[in-house]
Amino acid sequence: MASMIFTDPSSSVTARLLPFTRFSNSVVSLRRFVGPLHVGPLLTFPRTLSLLSPPCSSRFIIAAMATEPSAKVIDGKSVAKQIREEISAHVSKMKDAIGVVPGLAVILVGDRKDSATYVRNKKKACESVGINSFEVHLPDDASEQEVLKFISDFNHDPSVHGILVQLPLPSHMNEQNILNAVMIEKDVDGFHPLNIGRLAMRGREPLFVPCTPKGCIELLHRYGFDIKGKRAVVIGRSNIVGMPAALLLQREDATVSIVHSRTKNPEEITRQADIIVSAVGQPNMVRGSWIKPGAVIIDVGINPVEDASSPRGYRLVGDVCYEEACKIAAAVTPVPGGVGPMTIAMLLSNTLSSAKRAYNLK
Ligand code: NAP
Repeated sequence: MASMIFTDPSSSVTARLLPFTRFSNSVVSLRRFVGPLHVGPLLTFPRTLSLLSPPCSSRFIIAAMATEPSAKVIDGKSVAKQIREEISAHVSKMKDAIGVVPGLAVILVGDRKDSATYVRNKKKACESVGINSFEVHLPDDASEQEVLKFISDFNHDPSVHGILVQLPLPSHMNEQNILNAVMIEKDVDGFHPLNIGRLAMRGREPLFVPCTPKGCIELLHRYGFDIKGKRAVVIGRSNIVGMPAALLLQREDATVSIVHSRTKNPEEITRQADIIVSAVGQPNMVRGSWIKPGAVIIDVGINPVEDASSPRGYRLVGDVCYEEACKIAAAVTPVPGGVGPMTIAMLLSNTLSSAKRAYNLK
């Protein structure tokens, strides 16, 4: 299915890692190529660079804040590595048992460097766990029919268990037509309306859950944070992150509020949360004063801000003011090195699940 997956360069977070308390029998994926993969120069990160990111420093100390950081760091890089090892073991087992290797097909249209980098990262991730990857790279002026033809071919190819269309597509293409063409059994991004609809309904099971929100919940699980009965606030309501994250938290029996750009009192609402998931795209928007002492924070945002001291001229920050959050929250994901690595791990997991489902494997 369509993919807007972002990957953050992994961080070197090592401190204060909580013990993993729950391991699921998650997942897996694949790789091989059809057609050349365009690998552009390293990502000249985002098209929009925040020059005026709000200050995020300990000058903004509020009464409830400790003077020293006390929050646990939720180390997504480390958890994602663990998951990839699990997936790799499942892939080997599957290959030995039935001679089948999971496969992921990626369709990239155009020459955007950021999209090329995301695709390259997905391919590398597939390779690292033994999943086959297939890639089609079409020029910017390719027709919608050409894209639909490749989707149809992949839909019918038994060696492909997951299909991604890298978004955004060129403006002359009808995104909905293209995304709807991916069969839901191969919709590893989980964005198909049928999958999202099932996610929203009680008693129904989606075939796939969108990767980034799934990664957020997986982090909460693996660190042993209770969700049931907790108050959760999701900031952002996009189709790919905020909305499915809220649905997932509700399925886990949290009481969920959603904050969006028209919400009148976001700070007050957010301050009630035991669990905050922020997916906004505004650097350092969530300040210490928004956070209830002891809250658990999952920061999905990846925002480039100008930084003359960095060789690249920018650095990445989250939606949450990390320094302040560390003094008041119980636990927080860093950016980079938090949710980003989990997103790709969940894509691999969905691809493995799809392959297993195709062969009725548990
Ligand atoms: P999006 O489609 O632009 O959605 C942003 C959401 O934030 C919208 O629902 C918007 O509200 C809300 N919002 C904007 N300004 C707000 C404000 N001032 N107060 C409250 N809500 C506000 O973005 P997205 O695709 O969900 O991505 C969000 C962030 O996550 C970005 O930084 C992106 O780079 C990052 N991301 C990371 C990963 C990962 O793997 N770590 C994956 C995907 C995205 P309205 O609906 O009212 O407009």
